Amino acid sequence: MYNPKSMKATEFISHEEIQDTLDYAEKNKENIELIDSIIAKAKLRKGLTHREAAVLLACEIPEKIQECYDLAQQIKKDFYGNRIVMFAPLYLSNYCVNGCVYCPYHMKNKHIARKKLTQEEIKAEVIALQDMGHKRLALEAGEHPTINPIEYILESIETIYSIKHKNGAIRRVNVNIAATTVENYKKLKDAGIGTYILFQETYHKESYKALHPTGPKSDYDYHTEAHDRAMEAGIDDVGLGVLFGLELYKYEFAGLLMHAEHLEAVFGVGPHTISVPRLKRADDIDPDQFDNGISDEIFAKLCALIRISVPYTGMIISTRESKEVREKVLRLGVSQISGASKTSVGGYAESEPEDETSEQFDVSDKRTLDEVVRWLMEEGFIPSFCTACYREGRTGDRFMELCKNGQILNCCHPNALITLKEFLMDYASEETKKIGEELIKAEIEKIPKDKVKEICRDHLAKIEEGIRDFRF
Ligand code: SAM
Repeated sequence: MYNPKSMKATEFISHEEIQDTLDYAEKNKENIELIDSIIAKAKLRKGLTHREAAVLLACEIPEKIQECYDLAQQIKKDFYGNRIVMFAPLYLSNYCVNGCVYCPYHMKNKHIARKKLTQEEIKAEVIALQDMGHKRLALEAGEHPTINPIEYILESIETIYSIKHKNGAIRRVNVNIAATTVENYKKLKDAGIGTYILFQETYHKESYKALHPTGPKSDYDYHTEAHDRAMEAGIDDVGLGVLFGLELYKYEFAGLLMHAEHLEAVFGVGPHTISVPRLKRADDIDPDQFDNGISDEIFAKLCALIRISVPYTGMIISTRESKEVREKVLRLGVSQISGASKTSVGGYAESEPEDETSEQFDVSDKRTLDEVVRWLMEEGFIPSFCTACYREGRTGDRFMELCKNGQILNCCHPNALITLKEFLMDYASEETKKIGEELIKAEIEKIPKDKVKEICRDHLAKIEEGIRDFRF
């Protein structure tokens, strides 16, 4: 029985409801009147239900799809401005007891190099990341109760926050580790994490079972209810995602939105972020063996429809995607991207020998952070290294309020400029610096409140003098 308020995975992600939704969408995919009314509702910027959004996803009428793209672009502009938040993943360990058939970290893979960073090695990685200019990390680890226990993750977070190399600092650590207990989520909260991210991989329970044949992750219900436990433990910001390519994308899209509706119904606040990873080639993984790969076109459509369906949720895209694909979806609603990522354990401080790789998947965008930052600016975006919200306690519904009250330009915009200025001063090449300084000069004029503009100018001047870490 479908019930978004239920705490049971199979009730808030009801298979029957998804199937009914897909039938309804298929029947109405050419129903212009209904499609127009859904687009009109989306224009109110309060989001769409999974059923409404599913109709738009099924619709193949080019003009209507274009309307959705235009709206996604507009919502992106109005809610997030032209800022793009930057982050990098940090892989701590690839030891794993699970049997996920799409992931090279699966237990039976005997030829991948297994590595677990020591605290000293983490320090070297963090220094390398700080030296690129990163301020925000996403921690990644395989699931292994004895090799990667929660104590190891907590100690690693403490190490990461403690390292202050030159002007560098990691100011926000998001965590992407396997589903765990309320007690452990409380510990992560106390360690000062930003978002707890967990990808569902697939919402289709039967497929989930086949794709996760062994290990703790094979428990669909425990995995699907993890965000609820994290929120119960006091973590306000949680991130969702599916691994596109495993199951039919229309099914996943409905499931993803139902999950967001569930969080909103139970906790009064939806997911902080949605990630849109696509399955990639990896050691012992051939993506062509999975039947449900999606084209770049469909991928862009999914991004645009997520944007208009959950306008207040940040959207994340990783270096799994190429420069070209990233260019396209940045305009359609993506608000966070990774740059200069390594998906190997220990890849930042030293590159790995080719015959000893610990990588999780192939990276498509291999540019340096300086190159990514310059490219973003050339494309009209402001790369932001801001971490202010969570450090100022603006998490969960308080962040959503900021968004809903249109205060982004008085708060996030100056924060983006200040943190970009730090990057330009400390890490950028001459060319990037030149473009960046021009951009800051122009963008500062967009701050609506004169007082904020004045404070922002003052902060920028102080950064020139060598002072760091201002925030609104
Ligand atoms: N072990 C944790 C878990 O099970 O959720 C941490 C996540 S893992 C390090 C990060 C994510 O990488 C997974 O959730 C999965 O969606 C994704 N992933 C795994 N194999 C992949 C592949 N071949 N291509 C792209 N993404 C992959």
